[in-house]
Amino acid sequence: MANAFAYIDGQLHAERLSAHQLAEEYGTPLYVYSRAALTEAYQSYVNAFTGYRSKIYYAVKANSNLAVLNVFARLGAGFDIVSSGEFARVLAASGKPHDVVFSGVGKRTTEIQIVLEAGGRCFNVESLDELERLNQIASESSQIAPISLRVNPDVDAKTHPYISTGLRANKFGVALDDARAAYRAALGMKHLRIEGIDCHIGSQITEIPPYLHAIDKILELVDQVEADGSSINHIDIGGGLGIRYNNETPPDIGTFVRTILNHFDRRGHGHREIWFEPGRSLVGNAGILLTRVEYLKTGTIKNFAIVDAAMNDLARPAIYNAYHKVDAVTPRDGQLPATYDIVGPVCESGDWLARDRSLALKSGDLLAIRSAGAYGFVISSNYNSRPRAAELLVDGARVHMARRRETLLQLMNGESVLPD
Ligand SMILES: *Cc1c(COP(=O)(O)O)cnc(C)c1O
Repeated sequence: MANAFAYIDGQLHAERLSAHQLAEEYGTPLYVYSRAALTEAYQSYVNAFTGYRSKIYYAVKANSNLAVLNVFARLGAGFDIVSSGEFARVLAASGKPHDVVFSGVGKRTTEIQIVLEAGGRCFNVESLDELERLNQIASESSQIAPISLRVNPDVDAKTHPYISTGLRANKFGVALDDARAAYRAALGMKHLRIEGIDCHIGSQITEIPPYLHAIDKILELVDQVEADGSSINHIDIGGGLGIRYNNETPPDIGTFVRTILNHFDRRGHGHREIWFEPGRSLVGNAGILLTRVEYLKTGTIKNFAIVDAAMNDLARPAIYNAYHKVDAVTPRDGQLPATYDIVGPVCESGDWLARDRSLALKSGDLLAIRSAGAYGFVISSNYNSRPRAAELLVDGARVHMARRRETLLQLMNGESVLPD
């Protein structure tokens, strides 16, 4: 499935289903995911693992819908979580606790307890303080916590400042210079078992060299740490592989994985377990957001297409100045295009989805916002008291309602007016 969202007879389809019909039946704004595209991205990783001991821990935060998690669980993926909420989702989607690694700079005590009791595979620890807290919690329940230290290798992943995480100035991980001492400290903590080492240098990374640079730094540290008596079973290089939103040219998944694994091999570490924590590259291009044009507004310097999706539904343009391709679901032949900013109804000038797009439109038309599978629905909010969009998972000619559209009752749940 080269493109799960392609035109058939002048109509955009999601696999075998017409996007127009999906929008008519389920309403807009509507997220639509393709099971085939999810599966293909996952298999691209796994196929490139041949000959190595590698495993995928899907970064749940990219898209945590239960149906999406379930697709990956059925394929045998592990999961990288950043909260006990995500842990609960993984279990609800029939993921196994021992296939879960727990990342994040601010794990709370109760969250650690939950994942430890359930038998999580590894805690990716991000500070000395956290090591001590984890050791304490494990000792209170007479358990041994499996750990890896997230090391900040101080490499520039050349991505947007908000999604670059491997620089010294970021809040993430233990500084490279402090990591050896941190491993020594961990060796002395009776309720911790050192399993591995990890890093995650950023997101939407479109070139391989920053990874190789980070790996070199990590491997140097691995040698030192092992000389000190720790044994490093796995090396987790995090996620971050970019996707094509517009004209970016990231390596394809297979090339990316093979280059990384060959690099480990050349450096004499190809025998280790090498873990990946991809999020965006598994789900990003497996989803679109369907939205309907409410009004067209012709201005003196700009034309606006005001649509029924907004920054609360897809926040990436507002937060990261991100680009998403926008296509008409049913392109109008024989009408001259005009240039539009695609904006939502929310009362913020930051509420835009795309700028300066050439489209032939009439009000009532449907648009598909592409590459919306990652960091789309998961960042959506109820700002302006807008119920969150519905999510569908399409599989061939079948539709699975992955999440019903939120109702106003759900939206006000838990709130109350003052007593008399
Ligand atoms: C966000 C995150 C990932 C996934 O990043 P992508 O860019 O979506 O691949 C992996 N590991 C950690 C620790 C993360 O925080």
